Amino acid sequence: MDFGEPEHITMLRESIRRMLERHATRGMMAKWDEQDKVPRSLMEHISALGVCGMTVPEEYGGLGRDILATMVTVEELSRRSMVIGTLYLMNSCYGSMNVLASGSEEQKQRLLPKLANGEILFAYGLSEPDVGSDLASVKTRAERRGDKVIINGYKRWCSGAESADYIYALVRSGDPDARYKNLSLVLIPPTAKGVTLTHIPALGARGLNTNDVTLDNVEIPIEDVIGGEAGWNQGWSKLAGPALEVEKLEVAAMALGIAAQAVDDAWEYSQTRSQFGKRICSHQSIRHMLADAQTKLAAARLMLYRGCWLADNNLPCSVETSMAKMFVCETGLDIVLTCQKIMGAYGYAKGFDMERHVRDMLLMPIIGGSTAIQKNNIANRMGLPKA
Ligand SMILES: Cc1cc2nc3c(=O)[nH]c(=O)nc-3n(C[C@H](O)[C@H](O)[C@H](O)COP(=O)(O)OP(=O)(O)OC[C@H]3O[C@@H](n4cnc5c(N)ncnc54)[C@H](O)[C@@H]3O)c2cc1C
Repeated sequence: MDFGEPEHITMLRESIRRMLERHATRGMMAKWDEQDKVPRSLMEHISALGVCGMTVPEEYGGLGRDILATMVTVEELSRRSMVIGTLYLMNSCYGSMNVLASGSEEQKQRLLPKLANGEILFAYGLSEPDVGSDLASVKTRAERRGDKVIINGYKRWCSGAESADYIYALVRSGDPDARYKNLSLVLIPPTAKGVTLTHIPALGARGLNTNDVTLDNVEIPIEDVIGGEAGWNQGWSKLAGPALEVEKLEVAAMALGIAAQAVDDAWEYSQTRSQFGKRICSHQSIRHMLADAQTKLAAARLMLYRGCWLADNNLPCSVETSMAKMFVCETGLDIVLTCQKIMGAYGYAKGFDMERHVRDMLLMPIIGGSTAIQKNNIANRMGLPKA
């Protein structure tokens, strides 16, 4: 068992931090949060770090699969903001991992080199107004007409849709009663005729650019069904494949990044703020809160990295990735609320990043499969009888 951090991971962290200090400072992020818009151009600086090819094999122009490095990149970017972490995910995970796992050979040849260069981004179009955790009940309809597919319906909470090149959408492509057997995944350009985007403002994740998407007779070529012609009605098996396991790690990595930054911020603040004639870090209650936060953060990090190790070694990891997703997000929320308490009123007001850490962290247990859904998965996969 080796718990040491590989040198290339340490160097990766340092280069991401340097990039953020130049191109996404705390001041810039505060402005983007206020404006509810993070510029897509930031992706150029992210891709210049050489991190976009880490989920793409060399034969398709990438660097070869390194899930740990990919999740550390998400973690480090999310230290500044989970919205910046998401920009990278839209390329390397929503895009590359899905095309690699589920695309046809033609799609891999066409899309993976551009993804590995950081040129294109995917947004997820899974949820709908009446469809959240139960994705197999999507209503958006897709019909084949010759070599075209016509799509009608609504997608909700489609994050990054305005910046994306494609919406990776789950659609019903056959008899509605067949549930899992009649779903397909399709690539819809947000600029296609018949697509209307409506921004959804939210408490946190500001700048994530979350949208309602109306699809009115949108026409795409059959080549843009994931898996090509052979992928028609095969959406469920593609959705529930290996990319889903990694998706749980992605949200955990964002949560870890937010929590890690919150702990650093509270740690530093406690040494600059004085009350009753001494720095608050010397009050036992504050010391204990910070010790608790550091300990929980270390445990969360181990959970996440173990999940990465299993995924990197192609070992079964459905239970461990669910545990990591649930534990890191719930513990991360606990950590951030503790850190906010340490900063008193300044953890609640604009001007410090803490109030944003809290707003963003509240989202983590909801997305990527809620905590209750992860618990269901853990109990079911571990064989706990239901009756
Ligand atoms: C800011 C933001 C960004 C998002 N971005 C995207 C995106 O880019 N693409 C996308 O497709 N979606 C996105 N989502 C949607 C997100 O994935 C869903 O919110 C999530 O899947 C949960 O669905 P829901 O909120 O409709 O909750 P529901 O599924 O309606 O669940 C409501 C409550 O019931 C519980 N529950 C549901 N089913 C069960 C069950 N079987 N057992 C026990 N408890 C259960 C849940 O845990 C939850 O507490 C985003 C959401 C937000 C808020």
